[in-house]
Amino acid sequence: MVEPRTPRPGCAPFAFAQGKLHPPLQDDSDCYNRHSMSTQFQIEKTAGAARLGRLLTPHGEIETPVFMPVGTVASVKGVSQDILEELGVQILLGNTYHLYLRPGVDTVRKLGGLHRFMAWPRAILTDSGGFQVFSLNELRKVSEEGVTFRSHLDGSSHFFSPEKSMEIQIGLGADIIMAFDECTEFPADRARTQASMEMTLRWAERSKKYFEEHKHEVPWSGNDCASNTHAGAAVPTWSDKTQSLFGIVQGGMDRALRKESALRTIEIGFPGYAIGGLSVGEPRELTREMVESTIEHLPADKPRYVMGVGTPEEIVEYASLGVDMMDCVLPTRAARHGLLFTSEGKVSIKQARYAQDQGPLDANCACRVCRRYSRAYLRHLYASNEVLAQVLNTVHNLSFYLDTMRRVRHSIQLGEASRFLADIWSRPKP
Ligand SMILES: [Zn+2]
Repeated sequence: MVEPRTPRPGCAPFAFAQGKLHPPLQDDSDCYNRHSMSTQFQIEKTAGAARLGRLLTPHGEIETPVFMPVGTVASVKGVSQDILEELGVQILLGNTYHLYLRPGVDTVRKLGGLHRFMAWPRAILTDSGGFQVFSLNELRKVSEEGVTFRSHLDGSSHFFSPEKSMEIQIGLGADIIMAFDECTEFPADRARTQASMEMTLRWAERSKKYFEEHKHEVPWSGNDCASNTHAGAAVPTWSDKTQSLFGIVQGGMDRALRKESALRTIEIGFPGYAIGGLSVGEPRELTREMVESTIEHLPADKPRYVMGVGTPEEIVEYASLGVDMMDCVLPTRAARHGLLFTSEGKVSIKQARYAQDQGPLDANCACRVCRRYSRAYLRHLYASNEVLAQVLNTVHNLSFYLDTMRRVRHSIQLGEASRFLADIWSRPKP
């Protein structure tokens, strides 16, 4: 165990991490600084409603607005961790439901937590498992206590409650974890939406209570930061309570209920807030309306996370509304189906028109795929059902999303609010 120590005067929490993801450990006091850290958020610049910020987590600093690729089972399908680092991925999302079923939280915990297990030294966020329980299980049974569901792998019966979700997420050891919520279906009438929202609020209180009582159980054990290296990268371990639990605002497609959910979730108190229950089949204009009308009730000094969105156009739009964090399976899933996002619009690489196209996939993209391969080759790989097609397509799509967000951050940095969207969308449309 690390002995409790008194903070040194002038020990600025952000000082060690400015501009670096993993600075080398200098001495014992540096190690101590990390032990005393938990997630912190600073806004550096605004342009209209958009914000440029820094989110400091136990496993690195994140520039926001940030796009978080989805690594469902501790893997972004088809792309290795070294390439994700090269692409500039700052934070990955892991799915609690999938990791709980396979390989299981006990296995991950014994192996030192998700970071160590998947050799990923940067930040990780896990969802609560709720969304998959609701979307993948038609036979689920919901009660005040929690949700009984069947595994999509073998049909076995399982039970998630707020406490169970926290126990699993603490065991997985992501930097940011999410309160257990009920994702209200669409469409739903007002009474049903309100009842669902009320239960999510009660579950948020239970999530926070369990988290506060058990967060010290996170598998970042040990007191020797400097000795922790893995696969050539520094993987700091932590002995303090350094995970952060974010709350989730629900309320369906009802503006008044969204407001009430936001205010009452804030009353419970979290270091960050997510807007959940979107992208569940509603029209896009309604998604935007709900995001906009919820954000106005969220505290300005806390990170805002919109879950499960969206297209390149949408992530730019949400950033312009003041969203700081977003995740979506779209770039990776679409890539595996041969659908590629480019500066000139969407490209379906399977089409015969590309069979003899010697040009790069996207002349304005500097990713390793566009620098090296032709459209004809990518089309051939896809038509031949080669594994490499999925790898290369995913690398490009992720690169496109991450570049898009870089441009958004640059626009905010320049403070050009009026040109914010125009800068991004000056590209020719297909
Ligand atoms: Zn590219």
